[in-house]
Amino acid sequence: MSKKIVVAIDGPAGAGKSTVARRLAQRLGFLYIDTGAMYRAVALWALRNGTDFDDVHRLEQLACAAQVSLENGGRRVLLNGEDVSSAIRTQEISDGASKVSTVAGVRRALVEKQRQMAAEQSVVMEGRDIGTIVFPNADIKVYLDASVAVRAERRLKELFSRGIETTREEVEKEIRERDERDRTRAASPLMQAPDAVYLDSSGLSIEEVEEAILKLIRERTANGKEFSR
Ligand code: C5P
Repeated sequence: MSKKIVVAIDGPAGAGKSTVARRLAQRLGFLYIDTGAMYRAVALWALRNGTDFDDVHRLEQLACAAQVSLENGGRRVLLNGEDVSSAIRTQEISDGASKVSTVAGVRRALVEKQRQMAAEQSVVMEGRDIGTIVFPNADIKVYLDASVAVRAERRLKELFSRGIETTREEVEKEIRERDERDRTRAASPLMQAPDAVYLDSSGLSIEEVEEAILKLIRERTANGKEFSR
């Protein structure tokens, strides 16, 4: 049997991880796993049932009980069978996800689910702690970064395309706050794994980022001969 490959892509909000990870997965025939969507789904559930974000035990219970599935190449996100693909993309949920993700018990529960999802096949998984915690032995690790201005611009476009009205200032503020929380939390803070390749996507197109990562994958995996789907 050929070897299963794990491609880990970490980095701050708006660096282009989701777009690039989805494209790479499609191109390679790997499973795409958007771990941010899982933290978002738990935040949505918590907000809907009025769970206090300080109630770490209840949040951990929700994370354990949440059945999150990613369908259609990661475009469709189901929480306990309900399609929440749009509901999890609001600014309120971005903020909520970054809060629930500070809870160690929530992370434990979701990391376990993420490892299970990748047990059977090759994956491109993106998030904040994939190369450091979820798969420290990942075959390929990329830390994808971009300037705050570029990331805010991308996020703004994405929100507009979803019909969400906001301002550049608002988006920049939200990104800075989220970065700060993600980088300074005690549980699995966002950081570059020592063996990850740093890639700044500020001046690059999606295609250029995709090609750069694809080149890495080919170099590290016997020119693709070991891929299993
Ligand atoms: O990637 P996305 O912006 O959808 O993630 C939403 C939030 O979920 C992040 O700001 C971060 O706080 C949290 N997250 C995390 N670990 C991951 C993925 C996301 O803490 N692996």
